[in-house]
Amino acid sequence: MYGAGDVRVEEVPDPTIVEPTDAVVRVTLACVCGSDLHPYHSMPASEEGAPMGHEFLGVVEQVGDAVTDLAPGDLVVSPFAFSDNTCPFCREGFHTACQHGGWYGAGGVGGAQAEKIRVPQASGTLVKLPSDVDASMLPSLLTLADVYLTGYHAAHMGQVGPGKTVTVVGDGAVGLSAVLAAKQLGAERIILMGRHQDRTDLGRTFGATHVVAERGEEGVAKVLELTGGEGSHVVLEAVGHMPAYEQAYGVVRPGGVISRVGVPQYEEAPIGFGSLFGKNATLNGGPAPVRAYIEAAIPQVLSGEIDPGLVFDAEVSLDDVAEGYRLMDSRERLKVLVRP
Ligand SMILES: [Zn+2]
Repeated sequence: MYGAGDVRVEEVPDPTIVEPTDAVVRVTLACVCGSDLHPYHSMPASEEGAPMGHEFLGVVEQVGDAVTDLAPGDLVVSPFAFSDNTCPFCREGFHTACQHGGWYGAGGVGGAQAEKIRVPQASGTLVKLPSDVDASMLPSLLTLADVYLTGYHAAHMGQVGPGKTVTVVGDGAVGLSAVLAAKQLGAERIILMGRHQDRTDLGRTFGATHVVAERGEEGVAKVLELTGGEGSHVVLEAVGHMPAYEQAYGVVRPGGVISRVGVPQYEEAPIGFGSLFGKNATLNGGPAPVRAYIEAAIPQVLSGEIDPGLVFDAEVSLDDVAEGYRLMDSRERLKVLVRP
């Protein structure tokens, strides 16, 4: 990406092993993330450009000398951030804060919207998939790189469980994934705030019991009405813009939890008496440590218990990835697969 709206496909040298802990993976399936749309809107024009993409699965081509548990030919899925899986933060389940971790597309590591990618900390990062997995399962398995497990992280941090009323703010792919995860965790009532009917229909398939199309104060009033004026035990905020946060503290009930996984596009936000403090509300969430959840989710996908790949409604070749961005940005499509 060379700036807002400026996505180009270029020939670059193949990645190679740099550190003994690296692997090189041939990407077989990638996708465009809602978070890729933030720079697509706002990135200043740049001479060098930035490699893009952080969700992929593929086949290991090469491993460094220190990587003993992966071999060329292994089918793997990668979390959207790399991590050693051994440092104190990884052991506590917060792999996105790994002491030796980092992000794809930054610091000399390439992006996943590519034919090949170098994976640092490969042993800690990559998770093997069965080599004979049916190709129809791959989109759902790809969602474990980010989108589904980001929704799951929101629900996990929000302490979703049986008997809880959960409101999900945002009908993008992460919001819909949060609905599916909340359903998995036993939420009693799931209110989805979104106004694109094709998306909220998928939200109902995933387990939403109510849909609120209104936004702002009207939307807050509607959720309060649905909950007998009490508000929601848990709010999963999957947008990242201030109005979504305002809706979140507007609908959270006293003692409730707001869990955010939409990357905040703000640094300052209300936390005082009128928002969080007066309600004893808890605010949490952050970049999802999907590595912590991925191994448990793979069998759920393979058994058909969950089908999170339903969020994909378009596919482009790598050459057409710019069109993939356009389709998502214009909201013509929910989430776009990229097949190198
Ligand atoms: Zn770590």
